[in-house]
Amino acid sequence: MPDTVLTGIGVCPGVVAGPLLRIAAAPALPAPTTVTDVVAEAARAAAALAEVVAELERRADRAGDDTVAEVLRAEALMAGDEELRDGVRELIEAGHDAPHAIDGAFATFREAFEAAGGYLAERAADLDDLRDRAVAVLLGRPMPGVPSPGHRYVLAARDLAPADTADLDPNQVIALVTETGGPTSHTAILARALGLPAVVACPGVLAVPDGTTVLVDGATGRVATGVGDAEAEAAIEASARLTAAASALTGPGRTSDGYAVKLLANVGSAKDVAAADEAHAEGIGLFRTELLFLDRAREPGHGEQVAAYRDVFRAMAGRRVVIRTLDAGADKPLPFLNQEGEPNPALGVRGLRVARQRPEVLTTQLAAIAEARAETGADVWVMAPMVSTVAEASAFVAAAREAGLPRAGVMIEVPAAALRAADLLRVVDFLSIGTNDLSQYTFAADRMCGALADLLDPWQPALLQLVGLCGEAGRAAGKPVGVCGEAAADPRLAPVLAGLGVTSLSMSPRALPAVRAALSSRTAEDCRRLAALAVAAAGPAEARGSAG
Ligand code: PEP
Ligand code: MG
Repeated sequence: MPDTVLTGIGVCPGVVAGPLLRIAAAPALPAPTTVTDVVAEAARAAAALAEVVAELERRADRAGDDTVAEVLRAEALMAGDEELRDGVRELIEAGHDAPHAIDGAFATFREAFEAAGGYLAERAADLDDLRDRAVAVLLGRPMPGVPSPGHRYVLAARDLAPADTADLDPNQVIALVTETGGPTSHTAILARALGLPAVVACPGVLAVPDGTTVLVDGATGRVATGVGDAEAEAAIEASARLTAAASALTGPGRTSDGYAVKLLANVGSAKDVAAADEAHAEGIGLFRTELLFLDRAREPGHGEQVAAYRDVFRAMAGRRVVIRTLDAGADKPLPFLNQEGEPNPALGVRGLRVARQRPEVLTTQLAAIAEARAETGADVWVMAPMVSTVAEASAFVAAAREAGLPRAGVMIEVPAAALRAADLLRVVDFLSIGTNDLSQYTFAADRMCGALADLLDPWQPALLQLVGLCGEAGRAAGKPVGVCGEAAADPRLAPVLAGLGVTSLSMSPRALPAVRAALSSRTAEDCRRLAALAVAAAGPAEARGSAG
């Protein structure tokens, strides 16, 4: 019998057991102390910096990805910089203790980096991380950030920010459990991208002491401590058998009686295409282009954009690639757009709305997409995020046609757009439902807010009703209507979505085999019946129950 069972929302299936480790917080600077032995204090500071360098180098050696290793080595160089060490020593000689001398020396470096602008200014935040690490060593605390103990473990955190993900070594992290976050949070998206079992919105997980062995079930959302080895092994084996059975199926998505639902992959760059191929994706249903723009002080130029898009189009030759134009703002702020100061960014100038203020960003991107398409001959469909009205959709389609792109559609992420799906389909070639944002705006619940995770549940009947409106409009117009939000990755929901009239499901490649298996176990008639039951349900629990 387990000691304690915590329950959250399972967002990526799979069962694993391992020691739990939490992300350590950055240490606060302690109160200043009087230095009596300057030489010893300087040696203490130098040793802390050396430990930071050594730890970064160890991580670089272990990193599976060359880019990550390079970033870590560059950070190690910064932490080992001689000028920095001299600066720390001078501050100690001037009477500061080691933590304050390190803080002061890093602050001077930071100012210099910011003044230099460009690449160096973009690296300024790395200096804060290095300072926090050195101070943590001095205080005898774990270094902040994602742990890298050199063995496999379950990562626990309040929530994961996109910045944490670069640090996450999939050879060490075997599961993710977060106290907050919801089914559409970055943690959920990252977990599916990496194929890691994950549980979000799991209260109490941060109270579990580091090193405690936990059994994590990413399907049921259970996180148990004190589970015996035999019980853990049996649970892991049962889950692995299910995964293996699903992976054995290949071929296009269809119900048992042959009703086709295209199974597509969500990607962020050409790097993800191999995983899409491995999962036998029929194409790309969402190419999120903002990865190319993140952390950039300047917009990537035409040539750089053409190259990035071409890589994906080429790798998917002959198959459909739905590429989304830049989705900036709200949870994806982009420095070059200078959008600071919006009182409520989620309701602000984001997605396609950016084109109201910076139309050239959209036209440059559409031109780059068109050029990459022309070079590769891929079946490229282009779509805009955060569209609310027919007028916005018309303007986008006109811009896409002007660039020479034959297939243009819009995402349905705003309830207003779902309600007017039939009107939108008069001007666009296809719709793609972004259930992450559609949940957020339908329920007025921030998609990052773990406390409201129940409202963001993709089984909410009101959300499914809006999906049904789009599906119905698509059927009437004879035009495709896909789902590319996280809801598409839920195998039990796939037949329901198909029954609502959705013609394609696009998801993280790792989620694809289970969705394929779920679809193939139902007839089209089953799907329609399950869809009607789910929409008629009083709430998500009843909707899930009705799916059997
Ligand atoms: C969505 O909102 O469902 C979606 C697919 O877009 P993103 O998660 O990138 O906002
Ligand atoms: Mg979205």
